[in-house]
Amino acid sequence: MQRFCGDIAFPIDPLFRGEKVAIEQLAQLAGCDLGALERVSIRHLGKGHFRLREEFASLQSFQRTRIRVCPECIRSEMPSAAESWRVPRRLQWKFSSIRSCPKHSCMLISIPAEKFHKDARDFAAQLRKHHGWILDQPVLKATPSPFEAYLSNRILSGRGDRWIDRLELNVASRACEVLGLRIAKGPDAVLSGHSEPDWMGYGALGYDTLKDGPVALSNCLADMAREDVVDGRFFGRLFGPWMAWLKSRSLGDEFEPLRDVVRRHVFDNFSVRKGVLVLGVPSEGMTSLNLQKSVSLKGFAKRNAEDLIYRGLATREASGDIVPMSFVTLGMLDAYEREKKFFRNAKRSSEGGKSRTFVSDETNAAGESRLSIGDAAGQLRVTAKTVGYLIQHGMLCGVDASELYRRGATVVTTDSLARFQESFISLGEFAELVQRPQGSLSMKLRNANVALLAMPHDLSRIYWREDVDVYLTAER
Ligand SMILES: [Zn+2]
Repeated sequence: MQRFCGDIAFPIDPLFRGEKVAIEQLAQLAGCDLGALERVSIRHLGKGHFRLREEFASLQSFQRTRIRVCPECIRSEMPSAAESWRVPRRLQWKFSSIRSCPKHSCMLISIPAEKFHKDARDFAAQLRKHHGWILDQPVLKATPSPFEAYLSNRILSGRGDRWIDRLELNVASRACEVLGLRIAKGPDAVLSGHSEPDWMGYGALGYDTLKDGPVALSNCLADMAREDVVDGRFFGRLFGPWMAWLKSRSLGDEFEPLRDVVRRHVFDNFSVRKGVLVLGVPSEGMTSLNLQKSVSLKGFAKRNAEDLIYRGLATREASGDIVPMSFVTLGMLDAYEREKKFFRNAKRSSEGGKSRTFVSDETNAAGESRLSIGDAAGQLRVTAKTVGYLIQHGMLCGVDASELYRRGATVVTTDSLARFQESFISLGEFAELVQRPQGSLSMKLRNANVALLAMPHDLSRIYWREDVDVYLTAER
């Protein structure tokens, strides 16, 4: 690649760095589709962040200075020393958390370091140069790991819609490893000094918990307090390397959704003195359970208390009182009122005039064109579960309620989807629009007090489009 680019006088360094202009120039020169070339290229986003396909990677999660290979893959595919460059590169070999080859059940190896990083980036040239060395390497056995299988599948086939899929790749992969380290080695473990096979095991261990979402993580953290090896009163001491890692300043904004879950767990389960920072947020000086008592249902929310239960935002206590769930804030109750009135007015105005309906009634809906839940989720860039929730609560129009949760069922009317998109924008859509990672965007929007649709926190985040427009204008 270096030689070829040299021959046609194409500067290769900007291309290696992932600069947009270089990719554009190459597409022009080669006469190929820019979008297609961008999709398969590493794009630099600034501040040590890259985009690869739909994923987001950081310098730590992404091997930029050494080439790693499976020695067995190379051995079986390398035709001869003279043509060793013909072996195709595997995209997943670039990711630090992928350490083994599932086909050969062995560890990947790093090709010897080069003096200049750019020399280490030319896969074909490196393969030719180190041909003999690779063949000489001993093969280190490794057991197949569901964690690595998950990462590979995500990189090659795209994300699913579980909580872990919504974390950026660098967050999800490292979180599994560090949580696994804490589980395996206890609160005194340190972050450095572990071998590659060790990290592989930790990753699998942490993935086993994190794949099941924020509740599983919170339960796992609660279990740690029940171990009797350590004083469980102090969360920093108890969580050890897990907390030390999350606190690190080198982690970007994209770690915020994960920190959010840990923070909530700490505030709910430990008494933290007022003003003490927990992952950057000061304690209110009481556990959240006490804090929640101050959020009581008044006015509109009180009159709609039964609906709040139905919406998963409130619960009925043994005494018969209806109280908001622990994650519900006053802001969320305001958002709930605003949304309810918005949909009510939209419905009223459509009944008055002959205008298109916002949320059509069931009889009209039967004749409209429809989308499956999956397609609606894709268009809105939210999870299928979120679409189900929007239909259930009348924000999207569903056709056949009995089919609601059957995957692939044709249930959302295109008209109601279009209407919904006119007024609302999901975090996923917004992130795509402004080309920023979802994690950092959601934190920025939260800091700017941009209201979310009031929904349980295991659903995708959705904002009012008008609020997001105001936010964008203020940003500029
Ligand atoms: Zn292999």
